[in-house]
Amino acid sequence: MNPLPPNVASLRPYQSARSLRKGNGWIFMDANESPLEVAAPIAPPLNRYPDPTADALRDAVAEYYGVRRGNLMMANGSDELIDLLVRCFVRSGRKTAASTPSYGMYRIAADSAGADFVAARLRADFSVDENSLRAVLDNADLLFICSPNNPTGTVVPRELIERLSAAFSGLIVVDEAYGEFADAEGVPSSIELVRRGAENVVVLRTFSKAFAAAGIRLGYCVANERIINILLRMKPPYNVNVLTQAAGLALWRRRDAMERNVRDLIAARKVLAGGCERLGCSVFPGRANFFLLRPPKGISAQTLHESLVENYRIVVRRFPNVPEMEDLLRVSVGTPEHNELFLSSLARLLP
Ligand code: PMP
Repeated sequence: MNPLPPNVASLRPYQSARSLRKGNGWIFMDANESPLEVAAPIAPPLNRYPDPTADALRDAVAEYYGVRRGNLMMANGSDELIDLLVRCFVRSGRKTAASTPSYGMYRIAADSAGADFVAARLRADFSVDENSLRAVLDNADLLFICSPNNPTGTVVPRELIERLSAAFSGLIVVDEAYGEFADAEGVPSSIELVRRGAENVVVLRTFSKAFAAAGIRLGYCVANERIINILLRMKPPYNVNVLTQAAGLALWRRRDAMERNVRDLIAARKVLAGGCERLGCSVFPGRANFFLLRPPKGISAQTLHESLVENYRIVVRRFPNVPEMEDLLRVSVGTPEHNELFLSSLARLLP
């Protein structure tokens, strides 16, 4: 067989939380999923192919945001959109840019497409340094901005995104996977920039976090119609299956349940983060359904991670390959019982 293309031969797979650990009996606080289940009873006919562009769902979402159906595309998780965006908008020999630390799939999408990837370091407090971000935009066709940022929880101010949108000739993809949590705390969304007519801003959202539906694989993007049309050309014909379209619509119609859950999870995050601080940890609180935790002196993130797994079957996320994150753990807010168990376990494990 012929050799693989070099970018495929050197591809390192994304280590998703669920590829690192799966099975029953674990308390998963590692994947920023919602611990709450929302009922969405559905029974769509399965014999026909789905609507290729999921128009019922697009119409429902468009109406809520005050945009048009043509400003939206539905996808098999926002991960599909990340991949499609790079393949559609990054030309050969040009770069994909992002900040670091941020969501690992940006680099993998660039690697898969054979595009160079450049990342600007966040400051020590994990805020964006505008100058270092601008410095990586030379020869870039696409910039990923994640807000609230995974794994730091920090928000990128919309004014900064607006300034970059005016100065950058490429595409700015604002990944608002955790946007509903930021909405609830009054943080302005970049969807407003699309509404105002920005031609190079794409906003990603997902049903995987606030809507408590990571299992159905449904994400969407909001953008100028020209961009949506290009993405629709590139996507696989039936990328969102009938079960997912039906479940997505049922969940969208129950936004009130989602918003209640979001408020509860934010309140729980504050209690959980406060509890960790009282036990001597430092906490980066962020604006999402997770937070970063630095263990007190005398115990490493690695040891704490292992002890939580071995003694209490609690799984949180560690980032051993990211230098800035070596002594940090990312904790996703769990159910009230799991949060209590997390704190009592921490109290026993910390020096
Ligand atoms: N963007 C960010 C920032 C994420 O954290 C995730 C999930 N971990 C995704 C996108 C992918 O989400 P989805 O489940 O919609 O593919």
